[in-house]
Amino acid sequence: MAEFLFFTGPMDCGKSTLALQLDYTHSSTGRLGRLFTSNDRAGEATISSRLGLRRPAIEVSETLDFWGYVVAQLTEGRRIDYLICDEAQFYQPGQVDQLARIVDELQLDVFCFGILTDFQTKIFPGSQRLVELADRIESLQVRALCWCGEPATHNARTIDGQMVTEGDQVVVGDTEPGDRRGPEVAYEVLCRRHHRRHVTRAVAKATLSDPLPFGAVDADDDLGPGADDQVLDSF
Ligand SMILES: [Zn+2]
Repeated sequence: MAEFLFFTGPMDCGKSTLALQLDYTHSSTGRLGRLFTSNDRAGEATISSRLGLRRPAIEVSETLDFWGYVVAQLTEGRRIDYLICDEAQFYQPGQVDQLARIVDELQLDVFCFGILTDFQTKIFPGSQRLVELADRIESLQVRALCWCGEPATHNARTIDGQMVTEGDQVVVGDTEPGDRRGPEVAYEVLCRRHHRRHVTRAVAKATLSDPLPFGAVDADDDLGPGADDQVLDSF
């Protein structure tokens, strides 16, 4: 039975690495796949992982017809056994329906990878459709950590270092900080608490390096031994 799987987890948890690993595993047994991505950090039509792996892929534009593409390939006599679909949160819901149809009617395995929610903690339409249709959802173990050491579960967008909560759902971050025009857009993963309070690593660092009474803690009866934690808790 062909399978429709959705591997999900926050940014930086190794989804693209796993996507490329899965492609390697399947292709090394002689199966033939096709790789897709959308708005990868490395630019158009490339799946890249933070570990430095890179593979060419087909860029998924809003108008790409997965069903039409696969049927045309098969009709031309080309073999396809599986699809690897990275950055699937950016796909249109209708494209996810096409992927489900490919699994059911053409018996191809489809492996999707993506994050669930955007920088405003709202689910991406593509991810929602995947949750609704996939045979199985694999939550990737959270390997990314917030600056405070808690598991990082939420994606924050920063513009010139400041966390923002308004803007378009899809804005690709700058990967070449030296080569940009306009404000720098970046992403950072945070625990839910610090996402809610907008405390990015830079904010925490700036605030904590302000003259805080760490040195004077012992002399101040009001603060006591838990004072460091209280300062952190105050965020
Ligand atoms: Zn945190």
